[in-house]
Amino acid sequence: MDPIAFDNSYARLPDRFYARQEPEPVAEPGPIRVNVELATALGIDLEWLDSDAGIAMVAGNALPPGAEPIATAYAGHQFGGFNPQLGDGRAVLLGEVVAPDGRRFDLQLKGSGPTPWSRGGDGRSPLGPVLREYIVSEAMHRLGVPTTRSLAAATTGEIVARDRFLPGAVLARVASSHIRIGTFQYYAARKDTEALRLLADHVIERHYPQAANTGNPVLALLEGVISRQAQLIAQWQSLGFIHGVMNTDNMLICGETIDYGPCAFMDTFNPEQVYSSIDHNGRYAYRSQPGIAHWNLSCLAQALLPLLDEDPESAVALAQQAIDAFPDQFLRANAQGIARKLGLRELGLEESAEQDTALVEDLWQLMAEHRLDFTLAFRRLADLAHERTDNEQSVANLFEFPEALHPWLERWRLRMTQETSTSEERQALMYRANPVFIPRNHLVEAAIAAATDSNDLSVFHQLVEVLANPWEYRSELALYATPPKPEQVVQQTFCGT
Ligand code: AMP
Ligand code: MG
Repeated sequence: MDPIAFDNSYARLPDRFYARQEPEPVAEPGPIRVNVELATALGIDLEWLDSDAGIAMVAGNALPPGAEPIATAYAGHQFGGFNPQLGDGRAVLLGEVVAPDGRRFDLQLKGSGPTPWSRGGDGRSPLGPVLREYIVSEAMHRLGVPTTRSLAAATTGEIVARDRFLPGAVLARVASSHIRIGTFQYYAARKDTEALRLLADHVIERHYPQAANTGNPVLALLEGVISRQAQLIAQWQSLGFIHGVMNTDNMLICGETIDYGPCAFMDTFNPEQVYSSIDHNGRYAYRSQPGIAHWNLSCLAQALLPLLDEDPESAVALAQQAIDAFPDQFLRANAQGIARKLGLRELGLEESAEQDTALVEDLWQLMAEHRLDFTLAFRRLADLAHERTDNEQSVANLFEFPEALHPWLERWRLRMTQETSTSEERQALMYRANPVFIPRNHLVEAAIAAATDSNDLSVFHQLVEVLANPWEYRSELALYATPPKPEQVVQQTFCGT
């Protein structure tokens, strides 16, 4: 039996969807990590993946049977400016894995050498960005956020030249698919309606099968993407996650988070927070993420116009109506998210609507004013939902609300009395809505520094293992829950290029 069960539907699309491109072999493949849980779920032969043959596959030195490597074409708006031709410049899609449960996933190598879309780039990735993506994408998955995942990573034994010389690595990435808003934009920009149609059909069959049974399947597809993105961005907001490069080529049609370049989880709450070193105007700041998603989705709607209706005016009307639904959908998902974080069944029911809105708004305001740690403030709130003396989950020794928050805490406690659940039940739910371990930037940086500067992967492995259970606190892991000291605060993050 083949170690991976491939069935490559994207490679069966016409030539103008991709370039056939084999990964470029590297000097000396070395193991970094294999994701046992994911490999098992995908039905991939674990023993093989963990062997020299598996590592050679991850590094791009050996093609597994059934793989049909391609670099896919896409376009995209980068920081608002349209680039009609981006494409996989440092990645190849090996093929689609069909898991034992029938689900289909892309298996892509990132950092696997140049392609026709490299635009002068080397097609490679340094070790640091590979480790960052491994850590953060797997953490996001464990936090319950739809995301691309990391199947394995390997070193290349080669040096990559950036602002300094760095060890090279390759990431084997898994996604429901890598089809982006920018993939549709690529064909829309070329007025290739036939390709748009083929792509829409492909995506409907793969990700939105129920859309096929509606009167206007492409409209149902657009509505489906809008709804998934509204849910996704609400999840990001509820965790203090900042993506950093929400370009339209970095937004997937399947609704999974992709591209962990300059991303970061906030430590101190600040709605204006930006990390990316290239985001000079704060375009992709925390508070701007829902608005940017809305804008990106309108680019998708525009690309789909020729398929929405034969009559251009009707097509625009349909697209507009679909797009206009986003803000409400986001606000509703966001309200549900914050309600869960506060231990409330729902926000803003009837007579308490205005009060609830004020309760939430005031909390954000106070958190920003007093520079509270986003993650620990909510986690501490969960502690306070039900007082017990023997609470092993308590983060009281890491965080305490300042006096200035006490009146707000009193209002919150009063609001709790309107809930029908017991305080114990509420606390249990709050511990599942407010993680204690997130991939804090300074921890990610420390893991990267140990690997890059001292050839020590143990810090990386430990961090991945702690983040595999973000909900349960253990005091011996306090360091992983502790915010950075002033000198450890990471101010800027960089693209993985
Ligand atoms: P990203 O910033 O990761 O979303 O990448 C934007 C575009 O630049 C994509 O088309 C990438 O394939 C391309 N790209 C990024 N880094 C490299 C590289 N080192 N070599 C070639 N292409 C790259
Ligand atoms: Mg990208």
